[in-house]
Amino acid sequence: LVRFKNVRKSYDGKNQVVRHLNLDIRQGEFLTLLGPSGSGKTTTLMMLAGFETPTSGTIELAGEQIDNLPPHKRNIGMVFQNYALFPHMTVQENVAFPLKVRKFDAAAQQQKVKTALAMVQLDGMEKRYPAQLSGGQQQRVALARALVFEPELVLMDEPLGALDKQLREHMQLEIKRLHGELGVTVVYVTHDQDEALTMSDRVAVFHDGMVQQIGSPQDIYEAPDTAFVAGFIGENN
Ligand code: ATP
Repeated sequence: LVRFKNVRKSYDGKNQVVRHLNLDIRQGEFLTLLGPSGSGKTTTLMMLAGFETPTSGTIELAGEQIDNLPPHKRNIGMVFQNYALFPHMTVQENVAFPLKVRKFDAAAQQQKVKTALAMVQLDGMEKRYPAQLSGGQQQRVALARALVFEPELVLMDEPLGALDKQLREHMQLEIKRLHGELGVTVVYVTHDQDEALTMSDRVAVFHDGMVQQIGSPQDIYEAPDTAFVAGFIGENN
């Protein structure tokens, strides 16, 4: 579905935070980018989403080069750690926002928001403001907003980082359920190896702006390709 071809990114013209990135993302898979802080995971997502431009190389989505497409034309949903909900908008308005940007008519907006809220079990919360919701509920709103326009790809950057352990485990199951039900492709960023190993079809281990290894959780765990992967995966066990 997605192909990064020799992508590099430097913010300052000197240090490359992403170097020679070649990465294929398969239709329908749950791919996790795992790696330490600063290894280039977020930058990779930002380039895919269209908020950052590669310094060199190209990115293809569904066979089309997307380097010149603005974010809202990419058919990609996004969820971030701090939810980034609009505080002055109700749940209804927050979830409808991507539909408005994409110029859906009022009736379609209404109907799609209803479906998306039901999907994350937030029926009846339409009129509330983000401040009137718990952390878990806010994260569900963010999920509904990412899914409401039925994107082919959803990017999630540490979406559960701000939640306590119990809620995090519950939301991991919810995200997996939605992935299974919708058949949408998910690219998920985390530095939590347990999360990566339990949720993913494949894991890409990032280090220093490069993918060190990509494979099934079992491959990564049982047959690390490099000393870095072996050390990183072994670290907290
Ligand atoms: P984290 O888990 O901490 O977010 P990460 O693996 O996602 O880490 P990035 O956020 O992609 O890593 O950051 C990679 C490097 O790029 C870091 O050294 C960071 O300081 C730098 N960086 C990221 N965004 C910018 C920016 N907008 N301007 C300048 N430097 C940046």
